[in-house]
Amino acid sequence: MHTMPDQLSSNDIVAWHPRPVQRIAQAIGGKRLGHAQLLCGVPGIGKRALSRWLAQLLLCEQRRLDVPPGFCGECKSCLLLSAGTHPDFIPLAPEEAGKTIGVEAVRAFGARLVLTAQLAGNRVGILDPADAMTINAANALLKSLEEPPAGTYLILVSDFPARLLPTVRSRCQRIELRPPANELALQWLAPQVDDGPPQRWLDVARGAPLRALEYAHQERRAFRDTLFENFAAVLGGGSDPVCAAGEYARGQLPVLLACLDSWISDLIRLTAAGPEVALSNSDLGEALCRHYGKLDLHALFGYLDKVRDAAASPVALNTQLVVEELFICASRLGSTAER
Ligand SMILES: [Zn+2]
Repeated sequence: MHTMPDQLSSNDIVAWHPRPVQRIAQAIGGKRLGHAQLLCGVPGIGKRALSRWLAQLLLCEQRRLDVPPGFCGECKSCLLLSAGTHPDFIPLAPEEAGKTIGVEAVRAFGARLVLTAQLAGNRVGILDPADAMTINAANALLKSLEEPPAGTYLILVSDFPARLLPTVRSRCQRIELRPPANELALQWLAPQVDDGPPQRWLDVARGAPLRALEYAHQERRAFRDTLFENFAAVLGGGSDPVCAAGEYARGQLPVLLACLDSWISDLIRLTAAGPEVALSNSDLGEALCRHYGKLDLHALFGYLDKVRDAAASPVALNTQLVVEELFICASRLGSTAER
């Protein structure tokens, strides 16, 4: 769960969490921001992205607290941060997702944090997920929390703040994030989810957009795997195409057609240029290569046209009929030489 891509923009963050963002900006403006912040809330609502935003806000040399997102994006500090080479930005995470953060790592982190800032601004450390620290690591961290030098900020990120040592928790200012407003979440999610209504995923994820996206992609992978298995079994004559076509819901047709389009395009490349050619479905390379030399190139092009016609159809098609017809046609793609 800790491998969620950093796919949120600062604008998303500012829109999703207006109150925490405002409170943080006011605290920085009033020089009231504590040295240690604990960012918590359920997984998938943008804690990681908010911690990055806060770090950038603290490091930016030309911050404008009255203009969201607050950092300029252009100063030396902002540029170094985007390049991942800011000397005063110190992230700490487990070596592998799901592993713990040990005492040595925390000591090294604490030691780097108290060095003098190289860019003459603040220094910011992010510990994520903070609940991955072992007890010894947490005790070592307490030292860094006790008397941090001025201009040193520590951001702890946690899905499970209750797992942190109470002594660590009590030394942090707590920022509790909640899932964003449903319409904002939908706005962000909808363009990235093409199978089924996005609200469904959002409901399953209890309003956490990143988690909803993760669920949608997982389901999509499973869907693609099953579809490919059935399609490959039919290709060039094999299983009964109508049986293999299985049952699909109306909302699944666009993804299904996109999958077929990309597999057939690969089969065309393969048939035309041979097994050395680069395929876009590289994970299916071996399975696709099994059909090398067995399919008719002209029939493949004709098939691709059928798939694209269905995808571009101005009227709603009967999903089941389209899939069955495409599977029946696929079973007839064998090369004329073999027939
Ligand atoms: Zn800047």
